Amino acid sequence: MSFEIPSLSRRNLIRTGSAGLLTAVAAPAIIGVANAATGPALPGPSPLDTGKVEGGKVEFPNWRGEADRPSPAPPAPLPPDQRVGFAIVGLGRLSLEQILPAFAECKKARAVALVSGSPEKAKLVAAQHGISDSAVYDYQDFDRIADNPQIQAVYVVLPNGMHREYVTRAAKAGKHVLCEKPMANNSAEARDMIAACDQAGVKLMIAYRCQYEPYNRETIQRMRSGELGAARFIEATNTQVMGPADQWRFKKALAGGGALPDIGLYCLNTARAITGEEPVEVFARIFNPDGDPRYREVEETIGFMLRFPSGTIANCSSSYGAHESKDLRVRAEKGWINLENAFAYEGQELRVAHREGKAESIERLRLPQRNQFALEIDHMATCVKENRVPHTPGQEGLQDHIVMEALYESARTMAPVSLAAVGELDATRGPEPRQEG
Ligand code: NDP
Repeated sequence: MSFEIPSLSRRNLIRTGSAGLLTAVAAPAIIGVANAATGPALPGPSPLDTGKVEGGKVEFPNWRGEADRPSPAPPAPLPPDQRVGFAIVGLGRLSLEQILPAFAECKKARAVALVSGSPEKAKLVAAQHGISDSAVYDYQDFDRIADNPQIQAVYVVLPNGMHREYVTRAAKAGKHVLCEKPMANNSAEARDMIAACDQAGVKLMIAYRCQYEPYNRETIQRMRSGELGAARFIEATNTQVMGPADQWRFKKALAGGGALPDIGLYCLNTARAITGEEPVEVFARIFNPDGDPRYREVEETIGFMLRFPSGTIANCSSSYGAHESKDLRVRAEKGWINLENAFAYEGQELRVAHREGKAESIERLRLPQRNQFALEIDHMATCVKENRVPHTPGQEGLQDHIVMEALYESARTMAPVSLAAVGELDATRGPEPRQEG
C-alpha cells in the first residue's frame, strides 16, 4: 500500500502564491477559503492525515520515521449485527471485572445475554452493558436460550463443578461453548462435555487466555523456532494469598481441587504449550497448613515436576499461601527467556538472553498492548463464523485433567507416575490463532 503526497495543482499554486510555494511543496494544498467569519484559510488534510478505506478497513500510512515502531492499525470491528452473540453464564468477579469489559475491545463478538442466579445484580449488569431485560436468564430457565437466535455462543464462567452441567445444557440448546478453565472437576466430566458438544455439532473451546496473549505467544514461538536450542528447564510459578472467608474455591465439589486446578494449571498448560509435547512422567508434593479449615478438602500448596519425552523438565510451583507471583522462565541450550507476570492479566515483561560475540545480549521486548480476554473471545467468534476448530478445544482441557489426576496420584503415593506417550506435537490443539484485526 502506498500513499502519495498530491502534486501541486495549478489552482493551488495560484492560491498559495509564490511566497507560499516552499510550504506548499512540503505540505498539502490549502483548500479552505478565507472569509471574514472564519478567518484565514487552513491547510487541508493530507492522505497521511485522513488515511483511506481499503478492504473494508480504515488504514493510515505510517507517520513515524523508520527508526520507530509504526503505530498499530486502528481496530476494525465488525458491525454489531455481524458479530457472534455470546450469553455470559455466571456474573462473578471474572465476568464483571474482565470478560464483560473485554467485549468492548472485541471485533467479532458481542455480549447479548446474561445468565445469573442473582436477579438484582443481573438487571443492573444488563443495563450497564446494553443488554435487554428479556435476554437475562436464571439457571432454571437457562434452556430457553435455545429460543433466542441472537445467542450463538455461551461463555460458561461458573465455579468449576458447574461447568459440565452448563456446557452440556448449552450444547443441547444448539449453542457453541466457550468454557472457563479448568474445564471441569475431573477428566470424566471433561470427556462428557466433549461428547455432548460433538453430539450436538457445536464447538467447544476452553478459555486458556495465555495461549492468546502476545507475550506468551512470543515465548512459545521463540522456543519453537529453535533459535535458543532445546529447552532444558521450564520453571513456572503461580502463587497468590487467599483470604480467610469461605468461598467455592475451598469446596472440592465446586472447585475440583485447590491451587493446582485453579492457578497451578497455568504452569502446566504453558509448559505443555511451549514444548508442544505431553509429559511422560510426573511427580508432585502437596503441603497444607495444619488445622487451617480452608484446606480440609483442597490443597493449599503444590510443587510438581513434568518430564517431557525430548528431555525438557518443567518445575512448577503453585500456592494459595505465597505472595502473588506469576512468572515463567525457560532455560535453553543457547539462551534463556524470562517472562515476568506471565500468567497475570497485564504487566508482562519479556527478556531473552543469548550470546552475542564476546558479550551476553539481553533483549527486552515491548509488544503492542492487547487485551488477552478480547483476543481469546474473538478467536472463538472467528471459529464460529468460519467453522474452524479452536486452538484450545475441549481435548486441550481434558489433557490437563489427565495430567492433574496423575499429579494428585503422585502426591498421594509419593512416587513418580508415568503417562502414556503421545507421539504427535500439539496433539490436543487446533490451528494457530490468527492475529485478530
Ligand atoms: P466468583 O466466585 O467471583 O463468581 C462465581 C459466580 O458464579 C457467582 O458470582 C455466581 O454468579 C455464580 N454461582 C452460581 N452458583 C454458585 C455457587 N454455588 N457458588 C458460587 N458461585 C456460584 O468466581 P470467578 O468469577 O472468579 O470464577 C468463575 C470461573 O472462572 C471459574 O471456573 C474460575 O476457575 C474461572 N476463572 C478464570 C480466570 C482466568 O483468568 N481465565 C480468572 C478467575 C476465574 P451469579 O450470582 O450471577 O449466579
